[in-house]
Amino acid sequence: MSLQQNLKEIAGKIPAGVTLIAVSKTQPAEKISELYAAGHRIFGENRAQELASKYDVLPKDIQWHMIGHLQTNKIKYIAPFVHLIHSVDSEKLLAEINRQGSKLGRIIPCLLQVHIAEEETKFGFSPDEVEHFLASPGLEEMKNVTVRGLMAMATFTSDEEQVRREFRMLRSLFEKLKAGALPPGAAMEELSIGMSGDFQIAIDEGSTMVRVGTAIFGERIKPENK
Ligand SMILES: *Cc1c(COP(=O)(O)O)cnc(C)c1O
Repeated sequence: MSLQQNLKEIAGKIPAGVTLIAVSKTQPAEKISELYAAGHRIFGENRAQELASKYDVLPKDIQWHMIGHLQTNKIKYIAPFVHLIHSVDSEKLLAEINRQGSKLGRIIPCLLQVHIAEEETKFGFSPDEVEHFLASPGLEEMKNVTVRGLMAMATFTSDEEQVRREFRMLRSLFEKLKAGALPPGAAMEELSIGMSGDFQIAIDEGSTMVRVGTAIFGERIKPENK
């Protein structure tokens, strides 16, 4: 099947109101152009420099989503134009995004990445940390970022019930935060969950944004940097 057909097939499984982010990491700009030609405008990347170099050569009405771990010294490559940073995994990173935003006179939309998987990982807030952070005065002082919601990855497992449980746990945190008092500059509007292997479960469990790579582009050839 062609890329355009893959996209159409995936898009057909995604209800209105859920955003499909085509994850184009490691894929050449030509492949992105093929999907652009079919009308798709929303792409995700996990490395700042790769994202910036694709931004440079591709049409400027593409919405670029940063979905991978971001080092503070790489923020500058994407800060001027990035549509949404999904992978804010520490207060320190958010503070630095805020600093870059203020230099540019931009308010940069972000999601807080929450660690829900059983696997050990270095990245992401715990559910408790997210609650504490949103209740602390720190965020209110960051005028050049806006927190729009939460992002997470489920455990990499074929156990669908486990994946569902993890997504459900995140959804309940999301609903709880949404119902509570959020500081100015924060809202719970987007829940970024679901990848090629689990986007249908994520949609059942309340996803508003799915990040789909291999189901559209096929297996990635180049090794990816985690
Ligand atoms: C690569 C990646 C995806 C897409 O994964 P696929 O399994 O290829 O759909 C989604 N989210 C993040 C954070 C990623 O790094």
